[in-house]
Amino acid sequence: MARYKGPVCRLCRREGTKLYLKGDRCYSDKCAVDRRTYAPGQHGQSRKKLSEYGLQLREKQKARRIYGVLEKQFRNYFVKADRQKGVTGDNLLRLLERRLDNVVYRMGFASSRPEARQLVKHSHFTVNGKKVNIPSYQVRVGEEIAVHEGSLSSEKFKELAELAAHKTPPAWLEVDAQNLKGRVVALPNREDIDLPLEEHLIVELYSR
Ligand code: SF4
Repeated sequence: MARYKGPVCRLCRREGTKLYLKGDRCYSDKCAVDRRTYAPGQHGQSRKKLSEYGLQLREKQKARRIYGVLEKQFRNYFVKADRQKGVTGDNLLRLLERRLDNVVYRMGFASSRPEARQLVKHSHFTVNGKKVNIPSYQVRVGEEIAVHEGSLSSEKFKELAELAAHKTPPAWLEVDAQNLKGRVVALPNREDIDLPLEEHLIVELYSR
């Protein structure tokens, strides 16, 4: 399936909640979810109550859209999470949180996950000193994520250093905003993932 290239605010309206895909705009009064509280499309204002399957499907789509993951890759995450010890839903969210693009966003080095994904793809980040341009790269405890030295002097990263300085990273990440680097100090727990997701619905969907 191809990556969605249409207006991203439509995705938030479809899910009925903010997915924070546009950086600063998401926190302003221009946010489309705040302005139009119904789903997009001709029948957006007349949608009926969702079935159990519908609820599960929407939850999965919401998670996919928050993290910018395609269907096949998302299912692979589920298969991996299901094979791990512990609660499958927690394992799934932990795998998604450990994506390099998400970590860059969580550290405050990008204003949204889509922007983080683009910056990673353009080789602006290193992991333990080596360039990594794979957004899905799974970070491990102890790894250092940093802006590549060749990118440090750009205006874009000066702005991002300002942004990171005003953000509070989650407990599992340590951030040195001034030097645009950070470290993974633990694996994320469910309480560290402040997203409006009911992961048990996703597990139920894939367990049908
Ligand atoms: Fe979603 Fe952000 Fe657009 Fe609001 S501004 S609808 S949160 S992408």
